Amino acid sequence: MLLTISTTHQPATDLGYLLHKNPARLQSVDIAYGQAHVFYPEASATRCTVALLLDIDTVALVRNHRGPAGEGFALEQYVNDRPYVASSFLSTALVKAFNTAMNGTCKDRPDLPEALLPLEATVAALPAASAEQLHRLFAPLGYEVETDAHPLDPTVPAWGDSRYYTLRLRHAARRLRDLLTHLYVLIPVLDNDKHYWIGPAEAEKLLHRGAEWLPQHPDREFITRRYLRFAEYVNPTLKRLLSADEAATDDVLEVEPQVAEIATDETTALTHAASGNNAEPAAEKQKLHDLRLARIAEEIRRVGAKRVLDLGCGEGKLVRRLLQQPQIEHILGMDVSYQELLRAQERLHLAEMPPRQRERLSLVQGSLLYHDPRLAGFDAAAVVEVIEHLDEGRLAAFEQVLFARARPGVVFLTTPNATYNQKFEKLSAGQFRHSDHRFEWTEAQFSTWAAEVAARHGYQVRVEPLGPHDAQVGAPSQLAVFERIG
Ligand code: SAH
Repeated sequence: MLLTISTTHQPATDLGYLLHKNPARLQSVDIAYGQAHVFYPEASATRCTVALLLDIDTVALVRNHRGPAGEGFALEQYVNDRPYVASSFLSTALVKAFNTAMNGTCKDRPDLPEALLPLEATVAALPAASAEQLHRLFAPLGYEVETDAHPLDPTVPAWGDSRYYTLRLRHAARRLRDLLTHLYVLIPVLDNDKHYWIGPAEAEKLLHRGAEWLPQHPDREFITRRYLRFAEYVNPTLKRLLSADEAATDDVLEVEPQVAEIATDETTALTHAASGNNAEPAAEKQKLHDLRLARIAEEIRRVGAKRVLDLGCGEGKLVRRLLQQPQIEHILGMDVSYQELLRAQERLHLAEMPPRQRERLSLVQGSLLYHDPRLAGFDAAAVVEVIEHLDEGRLAAFEQVLFARARPGVVFLTTPNATYNQKFEKLSAGQFRHSDHRFEWTEAQFSTWAAEVAARHGYQVRVEPLGPHDAQVGAPSQLAVFERIG
């Protein structure tokens, strides 16, 4: 089993300092049931690659009753995939071989662990349910994900693909320890065959290694469940993960009772987003949404934007309108949900699009809660009915990603007006319009937030009602237009 990590950071051999492993030497560490070897296939100033090779002793596994249960066939205990695929053995090897790097310490170069490096990782053979599963787990963490499926037997194509993939992850600017930590947690999740007993210590490890990113991961519940495998630890761990996140970002020390319920499968909830799981009557909802999109498209035309972001693009309704504007040279649609992106690809007939048109559009998976260099250099960004899907405690992260790092020239951002909810008969007081909404704001709340964000990042902002105005409760939606100053 082989994992390689490369960087083109200058000088690339800084990777050796970070990992506490000299590029000139082969080093080996003992792990339970085998050895991990660390070496550098390349180490120049411009590109450096470290390799971690696992050598698992299947006989030792069997002697210690740690091999597969052997229900499949007579010799399965001896002839199995354990030595060849990425599994929790790789996670233990990562911690053993790269402990200091994973903990973010570097005595000789204390600045290095925080440095954002261009990184590329390749896991040679990783079991997964599908290529889509690999995308779903890694793309929300900001990686560009590439997978190669491996046939069961290349000489018998009719048998189809095996459950093993080569996984390639790329990130333009990431801390090495984040990459190591993501692999540490997600590889056993994919393998789903942890080799050791799972007890409270596993929950602690997950809390420790996942604290910075797992609470915002759309598949956090799946990951926690798979990582821990036994239900008794899952719920308390999820609760603690989420509460730690709230406390870290918001100084909220008390966890509200509904926080635990937020840990529903967000992806399922989001998939339902388009299917009318909503308090607004369908026709009215559609009309309002068309109006919103027409308005934003018109604003984008008015400012003459050439490069446009559609963040949380969903199934691509705004993208379709933007493609009709000849002044736009490039549109980047981004969404955290792979499912929604597939739907967008279908609805926009991407496969049949003429090449000139096709080149104007990129659809990428990514999360608005992580810095993403792909979002830089745009004239305008639309964020239509998205922020209410983010946990309120994470809005500070969103603000950093969009207004501090990506910094588009103008941002059109819409969100429901909570006061208008009184008009929806099915909705009782305090309820949200949609099951996946994490909050809904009044006009005053939205205006305050928008003004503060603008002031913090050198933008000016105006907030206006969006949709038919009601004398008592205002308009159903609201729009903030942020313009970068200077
Ligand atoms: N803007 C679209 C879709 C709105 S629904 C439209 O107006 O039609 C909200 C969208 O936000 C969903 O597609 C959901 O997948 C996406 N989303 C939720 N959390 C996200 C995150 N952290 N990063 C990026 N997109 C996210």
